[in-house]
Amino acid sequence: MHRPSAAEIDAWPSPTPDAPWSLLLSGCLHGNACGVDGTDYGGWDLRARLLGSKNVDVTPFCPEDAIWGTPRALCDLHGGNGFDVLDGTARVLTEAGEDWTAGMLEAAQRMLAVAMRARVRVAILMDISAACGSQVIYLGRRTAPLKVLQRGPGVCAATLMRAGIKVVAQRDLKTMGLLLRKIDPTHVVDAHARDYDQSDWYRGYFKPAS
Ligand code: SF4
Repeated sequence: MHRPSAAEIDAWPSPTPDAPWSLLLSGCLHGNACGVDGTDYGGWDLRARLLGSKNVDVTPFCPEDAIWGTPRALCDLHGGNGFDVLDGTARVLTEAGEDWTAGMLEAAQRMLAVAMRARVRVAILMDISAACGSQVIYLGRRTAPLKVLQRGPGVCAATLMRAGIKVVAQRDLKTMGLLLRKIDPTHVVDAHARDYDQSDWYRGYFKPAS
């Protein structure tokens, strides 16, 4: 499993200001204006609580911005997910059809280097992105096939996973709650919170064909 389990989180040493957890965070989730059109995604649940803690050392990084800058074209995966791109059987294309596979592979290596240098305990990444997605990504978007979602990670998340780094999507609310309780023992875990792949939306969208 690419996410840390409840038992793993329990077993990790509790972070302190002198020995904080090192976390990698998608730049846009940190609040950096590095989305394709310069937007950020800093409005997600639990962000303030995470970034407000002295028990974490957060490294924000945007792999696409590192390669192509911002603003840039929107790209998506075609022919498979991030693991398939790493294995050479899927590609990364912009809406205009330009092949960005090589650039995305370089972006993934840069993100991995950042994560290794920072000795991150866990990466919290923006889902749906062709780079950072960890549960759900597009299989195409505005180029055919139109707006079809697929299970699986983007290229950068897949690279981190293959390197043994735990990855959590910001929509994995159950795991995020468990991480936050370890970071801040006053945090009350929502007993009804579920990870993204347990959500009604996910189960409905990806339900097996009958
Ligand atoms: S999802 Fe990842 S690649 Fe996309 S803007 Fe955020 S940090 Fe950058």
